[in-house]
Amino acid sequence: MPDTPCPCSPKKLLTNCCGRYHTGEPAPTAEALMRSRYSAFALGLTGYIRDTTRPDQQAGLDMQDIAGWSHSNQWLGLRLHRTGAAGMQPRREFVDFSAHYCDAEGKLHEHRELSLFVHLKGRWYFIQPD
Ligand SMILES: [Zn+2]
Repeated sequence: MPDTPCPCSPKKLLTNCCGRYHTGEPAPTAEALMRSRYSAFALGLTGYIRDTTRPDQQAGLDMQDIAGWSHSNQWLGLRLHRTGAAGMQPRREFVDFSAHYCDAEGKLHEHRELSLFVHLKGRWYFIQPD
């Protein structure tokens, strides 16, 4: 569906935005990775959620839980609050954002999260909090 708007930004087309990263291009910034992971949640691309989590944490992910969270909510939009450096060697950045969604009972929610990302071998990865 080439003309589909991107879930992360209604003004952009999926193919020009997060779709590029879903099909293998490395996200150039932590913010771009966060956006593409949000869009993957909205589109049910749970494999992408796994693949963009820090490699040593991937095996420990609860994929059923991720799929349930992805499919049971209707994803309405994303708002970026701020982003910045969080360390070097390896490079880390934080992204503070809100995801807006509607749950199965029709209730609206704002999920605010301060996520941490790490740059390893040319790719950004999400660090799963302990
Ligand atoms: Zn996007």
